[in-house]
Amino acid sequence: MTAEVVRPDRPGLRRAADTLRAGSVCAFPTETVYGLGAHAFSRSAVEQVYRLKNRPTWNPLIVHVPSVAAARDLAAIWPAAADELAERFWPGPLTLVVRRSPGLNDVGRTPADTIAIRVPAHEVALQLLDACGLPLAAPSANRSEGISPTTARHVVQSLPEVPLVLDGGPCAYGIESTVLDLTEAAPRLLRPGALSLRALRAVAGPITVPDTTVADGSQRPSPGMSRRHYAPRAKVELVDEFPAAAAGGVLTYEGHEADAQSPRGGGPQVAEVLSADPREYAADLYAALHRLDDAGVDRILVRRPPDGEDWLAIRDRLGRAAA
Ligand code: AMP
Ligand code: MG
Repeated sequence: MTAEVVRPDRPGLRRAADTLRAGSVCAFPTETVYGLGAHAFSRSAVEQVYRLKNRPTWNPLIVHVPSVAAARDLAAIWPAAADELAERFWPGPLTLVVRRSPGLNDVGRTPADTIAIRVPAHEVALQLLDACGLPLAAPSANRSEGISPTTARHVVQSLPEVPLVLDGGPCAYGIESTVLDLTEAAPRLLRPGALSLRALRAVAGPITVPDTTVADGSQRPSPGMSRRHYAPRAKVELVDEFPAAAAGGVLTYEGHEADAQSPRGGGPQVAEVLSADPREYAADLYAALHRLDDAGVDRILVRRPPDGEDWLAIRDRLGRAAA
């Protein structure tokens, strides 16, 4: 079976909503990456998500809702910080982890009685949430460990078994949401992502950043942080300097165009030169990795991105892709 890709017009949205209400799954665009949507509290629908993605069961899901009010309904405790952050950044690429309402069933639940929630900032995602009237779990619509999809075509390539894909064009951010844990006194960064720490701190104050590469960071929380994820088929190697005659794929950024040329000939088969602006770099990163994979290279040399917090999410993704 091959996924059917449809436009997100009225009939397309109606079909997608019907599919979700019937307990099946459907891929749809968000501003971060394409999500594989399912009724977040239907055991069988969520099981399909884990099965299709081959996602490890210990990896919890983010629940997508259309409004702050809908988010509060899922929480046992809605801290003041959640209100302030939601007010400022929702709809948007910020996921908040809060205590889970005891009224919810345990589908997709984490051991610590928490739930991860966000309101996506994509017209199609919001229209779909509205049309189906369900909270939607929507992890990236790709096989687990692989590169996240930023176009409908990426979804079909990675998950041909998905029955329906709403095509909303390329994703604006192109990198996953920032995940912030609000269950303790101080907000804690669980996953760097599309929304910068700078923007979050301006609203939430100090944020614990469990990453030694960050100046004000504290200890590294767990070995799981360096597991392989976001990885193309080709082997990814992060380098500070390019060899004179690099063969295979090259991923670099503006200011280092020479990486993409070999002075001795026989140079790279395929090169991707991304923006030197971290936001633009992130938006194109997965698409570039997809293109390099499609070109059939078996190795991708990646120029290590700059230090600094604005590059945190990109360093995180590339580090895991290279693991
Ligand atoms: P994905 O759906 O692939 O974008 O990944 C969801 C991310 O959110 C993963 O990094 C999860 O570990 C994280 N996450 C989801 N729910 C929770 C939760 N309740 N507590 C901590 N992290 C969570
Ligand atoms: Mg993912």
